[in-house]
Amino acid sequence: MNNGIAAVTLSKVNKWYGEFHVLKDVDLSVAKGQKIVVCGPSGSGKSTMIRCINRLEEHQRGTISVFGTELDDNIKNIDEIRREVGMVFQHFNLFPHMTVLENCTLAPMLVRKVSEAEANKAAMRFLEKVRIPEQANKYPGQLSGGQQQRVAIARSLCMNPAVMLFDEPTSALDPEMISEVLDVMVSLAEEGMTMICVTHEMGFARRVADRVIFMDKGEIIEQGPPSEFFDNPKNDRTKLFLSQIL
Ligand code: ADP
Ligand code: MG
Repeated sequence: MNNGIAAVTLSKVNKWYGEFHVLKDVDLSVAKGQKIVVCGPSGSGKSTMIRCINRLEEHQRGTISVFGTELDDNIKNIDEIRREVGMVFQHFNLFPHMTVLENCTLAPMLVRKVSEAEANKAAMRFLEKVRIPEQANKYPGQLSGGQQQRVAIARSLCMNPAVMLFDEPTSALDPEMISEVLDVMVSLAEEGMTMICVTHEMGFARRVADRVIFMDKGEIIEQGPPSEFFDNPKNDRTKLFLSQIL
């Protein structure tokens, strides 16, 4: 992996759902180790943008690259990028019929051809990191939302991603569980993980973000370091949005 190139680059990215223009000339460059927080009103294209980065959605114009590999129709490139990019969703998306441990070991064994013993060992290490090793043999349905989301984070980490994408990881959680997930994300950030997080958790953004990006109607309207962004927003749409969430 080359440290001299950006981790993630979007250049004039455009996407349509049918006639609907959902991403409009989106430019974004994330250096290795940087943490980006993306916010904006519902429907502004935040999920679509980050889903494009690992090809859960396809963009039609512009370029997306991850560590210099361009996301195009070449399946080899798509596989390569997916190996580098971990994703955590709002609704956890764990496999309900598998234990926590099995959720964590499935992909490393299947995709990376890691032995079961090795996969188990790595999984336990990451479950410790997210502070729930004692839940390893339970099923997702037996865990709280906050615990399930921490399993989802551990599961992603088991693939050793170079970049982590988070799509509103705490917005489906009961309020008392939000901080246990954010704490794990803060630790990850402090260890130097490259992260793009869609979240409206402004405390988190102030604490870890190098840059906050505000999207509205498919465009990046404003961006800046958290202090500048929150304390001195320039655009009227940003001001309106912040007045609604703060
Ligand atoms: P956000 O995450 O900011 O709330 P999304 O990226 O989910 O926004 O959605 C942006 C817009 O695209 C919304 O208007 C949404 O209704 C629309 N959209 C999202 N997914 C699809 C889809 N699969 N087909 C058609 N329209 C979609
Ligand atoms: Mg969304």
